[in-house]
Amino acid sequence: LVILNKVNKFYGENHVLRDVNTIVNRGEIVALIGPSGAGKSTLCRAINRLETISSGDIFIDGVALPDEGRELATLRADVGMVFQSFNLFAHKTVLENVMLGPVMVRRTKKSDARALALEHLDRVGVADQADKMPSQLSGGQQQRVAIARALAMGPKLMLFDEPTSALDPEMVSEVLDVMLALAKTGMTMVTVTHEMGFAREAADRIIFMADGQIVEEATPTEFFSAPKTTRARDFLQKVL
Ligand code: ATP
Ligand code: MG
Repeated sequence: LVILNKVNKFYGENHVLRDVNTIVNRGEIVALIGPSGAGKSTLCRAINRLETISSGDIFIDGVALPDEGRELATLRADVGMVFQSFNLFAHKTVLENVMLGPVMVRRTKKSDARALALEHLDRVGVADQADKMPSQLSGGQQQRVAIARALAMGPKLMLFDEPTSALDPEMVSEVLDVMLALAKTGMTMVTVTHEMGFAREAADRIIFMADGQIVEEATPTEFFSAPKTTRARDFLQKVL
């Protein structure tokens, strides 16, 4: 579903993605982990084309990422992204937040978009908050709305960049539970996470990045019980 071929990214002199190659298959759950500054967010943002890459290719469903225009809007709709900060539209209600994409990008009729939005809000357990403003919700609820908003577009792929790291501890599990449930539906997911328990439980594959490179790719069982590189061992010692 996603092919990354020799992806390189520079910020000025800083070489933040170095020949990144990998393939994410349909239905696969990939946990992207690694130390701060490894390039995990940059890689996620590149897949959604929130960042341009300096060289290499990214294909989604066999199609190279578009540069602009209608194709780019469609790409963003097909590739849902949930960030650390909740990024809801502050001046729109929860329901409007979820309806907006389907109406504007998918050209869904308003009445249909409303029904769709409520269905997705229900799926993440916040349908009762539909008429509130985002600021009236807890962080965990806002993040679940952000997930519903992405899902309402009918994405092929969901990217999560540390979706729980800005949350109070007691709200982390309500968001991880929604992500686990989503993983079981066959959604393709790439998740940057510091939640090693989640990575172990949900992921089909761990990608460990450091210094802009993929250092290890393995199943969670292999990775957590027998990391092959000293970098991964050092990292796990710090986070486990
Ligand atoms: P963290 O775990 O802290 O979120 P990360 O693995 O997500 O780290 P990135 O945010 O992708 O790391 O950053 C990779 C490198 O790119 C870092 O050296 C960072 O300083 C640099 N970088 C990221 N965004 C920018 C930017 N907009 N401009 C310049 N440099 C950037
Ligand atoms: Mg990051």
